[in-house]
Amino acid sequence: MKNSIKRTLSLVLSAILASITLTACGKNSNLDNTDTGAIFQAGTYSSSVKGMHDMMVTVTLTENEVENIDVDHSETPGVGEPAVAVMTESIISNQSLGINVVSGATLTSNGILDGVKDCMVQAGASQSIIDNFLNRGQASKEKEEDKEYTADVVVIGAGGAGMAAAVTASQKGANVIVIEKSGNMGGNTVLSGGAFNAVEDGSEMAASTNDSVENHYNQTINGGDNQGKPELVRTLVENAWSAVEWLKDLGMEFLDVPTTVAGGLWQRGQKPVEPEGIGFFMAYDDYMAENSNLEILYYTDATELVLNDGVVTGVICEGETGNKVTVSANNGVVLATGGFAGNVELRTESLKDSDKWPILDESIKTTNSSNVTGDGIIMAEAVGANLIQMDNIQLLPLGDTVTGSLSGNIGHGATSFIFVNKEGERFTNEGGRRDDMTLDLFNQTDNFMYMIMDSDTYPNGDELNNFGEHINDLVADGRAYKADTIEELAEMLNVPSETLKATIEEYNKYCLGGEKEGQADEFGRTLFTDAQNVNNGINTAPYYAAARVPTVHHTMGGVEINENTEVLDTNGNVISGLYAAGEVAGGIHGTNRLGGNALTDTIVFGRIAGENAFNFSK
Ligand code: ADP
Repeated sequence: MKNSIKRTLSLVLSAILASITLTACGKNSNLDNTDTGAIFQAGTYSSSVKGMHDMMVTVTLTENEVENIDVDHSETPGVGEPAVAVMTESIISNQSLGINVVSGATLTSNGILDGVKDCMVQAGASQSIIDNFLNRGQASKEKEEDKEYTADVVVIGAGGAGMAAAVTASQKGANVIVIEKSGNMGGNTVLSGGAFNAVEDGSEMAASTNDSVENHYNQTINGGDNQGKPELVRTLVENAWSAVEWLKDLGMEFLDVPTTVAGGLWQRGQKPVEPEGIGFFMAYDDYMAENSNLEILYYTDATELVLNDGVVTGVICEGETGNKVTVSANNGVVLATGGFAGNVELRTESLKDSDKWPILDESIKTTNSSNVTGDGIIMAEAVGANLIQMDNIQLLPLGDTVTGSLSGNIGHGATSFIFVNKEGERFTNEGGRRDDMTLDLFNQTDNFMYMIMDSDTYPNGDELNNFGEHINDLVADGRAYKADTIEELAEMLNVPSETLKATIEEYNKYCLGGEKEGQADEFGRTLFTDAQNVNNGINTAPYYAAARVPTVHHTMGGVEINENTEVLDTNGNVISGLYAAGEVAGGIHGTNRLGGNALTDTIVFGRIAGENAFNFSK
């Protein structure tokens, strides 16, 4: 774990640790002790386990108790990393292996539980001792008394849009309280690839990529089949570059050359130096360390907006111990609770009159955090908000075959990979729209494909993918494949070798220096070469592949807003005091969101919401 990342998330960790002051955590004494009274051979034991990545769990056991747990890991900062702190503290406090896993970090939590159990076994614990630890519950926290808070601006949700709104309002001088259901900042934003679309009109870079704000506007509108509200799309693209500058001012770092996000259609993805969405939250964390007028209430679940004489004045929440927490706003309330891709009931209900997708039941997984379940949409509707375009749901062809997450996605930029089915054939324009690619994937055997690329993407063989994972680790874990020849790769993937070779040979003809360079291929693909990132085809060993399946990713429908992020009711009137930003809001992206536009949306509309919520007075 890099020190810088550890440091920047220290605030998050201390918030979590402060919130797990367990009461009544009396250590159980009903073990089936041996004659000596010892249940463990006292000592320090280690176990290598799997979380999101490999972890080494080292446990010090006395004769009767778990005394200490150290975890050496590279779990995702902001997601898995805080879970390590919560789990180790909770296992020790409760002397139990039957504690709740941290929501949104199940793999990390279970990995730690496995590691501690294994150490107990190494220390000679009998099965009945292990069972005893497994059967002990988690001491429930004593219900705290109800609490009331007041701030100038109240933000619900500490994801991308919520934190952009909170920091902006704070910069303008507001006292801000952010309400967050989970134990960490980040939401789906921290799980994303991190790149977002923004073009600096008239710059040298824009000239070299032949791009402009107008091009971004047209592609966004057309990419969503003209369903995006034009004034919202204008707001999005015209404020995108100032969002980059704002983040840079907060200390966030970006690569010099933009990338083409899958489904982004153009080379305008501003790529943070840090993997995933971590860089955003490192910057916000640093900001909070220096500014005391922004506070986050973790483990606080917003359940109801408070409406007084037609004005939203606050929010009622359930605190961690089941107590009532009421947070009132002197000025406005910003809803930033994200979308509903992970809410199977809401997404199937929203799609009941649409035949675009197959039924999106539990069998189709999601890239989303388990905390993001459309709560804000439900709360807003209860105070009269209009919901629009709820059936505009985006899937990606890039999900992990088991979890649906983006983890293990080995693509860096859309110009240098192809997708092949189990028969070894391409079937879609990999540079095209996300919905087209995913619909084409649903027509392949078992809804299954391999993403294939060559060493251009991983020149040294130990680079990270966009999700903070080393390609070597993914290969070692069997989540990606690496081969010296196409034949060898075909054998690993169990696809017909001759077909795969022919597929790649044909694709290479369209790449730099190929006989069909400059032409569109049979799927309409024209995106073969970035202006700077030269792609001469899939022809240089080693070759890489990874299996991917369809996954539900983003919900473009939601609460209707205007360009000031004010929430509109079913008559088109503003609901005073209520603002919405990010995925909770609908009507920006239309039927299909351009890859790389989601994070732009969160920053641009989050900043507008933060400022306008502070300017609102009752
Ligand atoms: P966006 O991309 O729109 O900013 P994210 O998915 O990044 O959305 O973040 C949404 C955040 O809102 C997550 O951190 C999630 O845990 C939080 N959240 C969702 N529902 C609630 C709720 N009812 N109360 C408090 N926080 C919530």
